[in-house]
Amino acid sequence: MIYLDNNATTQIHPQVLEVVNLYLQEHWGNPSSSYSLGAKEKKAIETARQNIASLINAEPAEIIFTSGATESNNMAFHCALGSRGRKSKKHLITSAVEHSSVIEISKNLQTEGYDVTYLPVDENGMIDLNDLENSITSNTGFVSLMYANNETGVIFPIKQIAKICRRKDVLLHCDAVQAVGKIPVDVNELNVDYLSLSGHKLYAPKGIGALFVKRSAPVAPLILGGGQEAGRRGGTYNTPYIAGLSLAAQLAIAQIDLYKNQIEPLRNYFENEIVKNISQVYFNGKNSLRIPNTSNIGIQGIDSDIILNYLNQYEIFISSGAACSSQTIAPSHVITAMKDYTRAGEALRISLSVNTTLEEVDMLLNKLKEAYRILA
Ligand code: PMP
Repeated sequence: MIYLDNNATTQIHPQVLEVVNLYLQEHWGNPSSSYSLGAKEKKAIETARQNIASLINAEPAEIIFTSGATESNNMAFHCALGSRGRKSKKHLITSAVEHSSVIEISKNLQTEGYDVTYLPVDENGMIDLNDLENSITSNTGFVSLMYANNETGVIFPIKQIAKICRRKDVLLHCDAVQAVGKIPVDVNELNVDYLSLSGHKLYAPKGIGALFVKRSAPVAPLILGGGQEAGRRGGTYNTPYIAGLSLAAQLAIAQIDLYKNQIEPLRNYFENEIVKNISQVYFNGKNSLRIPNTSNIGIQGIDSDIILNYLNQYEIFISSGAACSSQTIAPSHVITAMKDYTRAGEALRISLSVNTTLEEVDMLLNKLKEAYRILA
């Protein structure tokens, strides 16, 4: 099997799996218990909070554990829009290329009377900062923009975006799921109010994530319960997965250079080779700053489904876009926003991991060439 769809999910790191198993089998106490069974678990949660905080340069108290970034994204909207004083502000801004969770929350808010601006992107997948600034009115309470796009890897200039939001006194959320662990993410430098991250993009399990909430930003629980997370998120702590995320965060700090020094050259090698071999190939988002592991290509005139099926026979796994949307038949909303519907139907996403080898990339190149020869 050649797995090159790591923006959809990553394989759990063997050491992370060991930690998860340890907490499932041996340290299974409830961290909220008052007796000594649970004390180790409680300490593990606080160490995890420290480790996640270190990964993004936050303070431990600013980290809230969630069931993943979909929940983190929902909670960020809930915190910002539900806050006192801002409740009357019924306009928010996001972009046309956000993850489906942010798009769906926004659409839902529209049905509740909110006015939403979906900033367009150019053919390089980039928003226009003047557009953002001009869209902010006295009625704008919240901006939600992603750090790195899950389909193209395109990086938004969050630092500059935050400057605009500060100047206009608007709260800013950043969905940083695809950036954390791949490029340095520093919440102080970025100056965001909220930031979402997800375990399963970082070699930790699915179903665990975190929301960073800046100390000064409004916070309101989305899930009410037993007062866990200092009353900010109810529900018994998922100690095994939190301990797994903790180790994954430490490993992510240690291996961030690999993304720059090993994975990016491999991604660039793939892109240089594919143009030499397939004349009809084009790239989506290549002219923008991108995270190091992602390439989004299209082959003119060939639907992505046909290519995916061809590669599938050889157990080579890439995707046409976000896995979350692949049950829906509609082609990528990201590529549609950048280019058009036809190009969206041709989009192929290749996303590498720390485990990807040159041999695997060569195998993909060979099979893509073969597919092109047969299908073009
Ligand atoms: N945002 C982005 C940019 C993503 O890529 C994903 C995962 N596909 C999510 C949010 C949702 O994360 P989770 O799967 O942890 O709910």
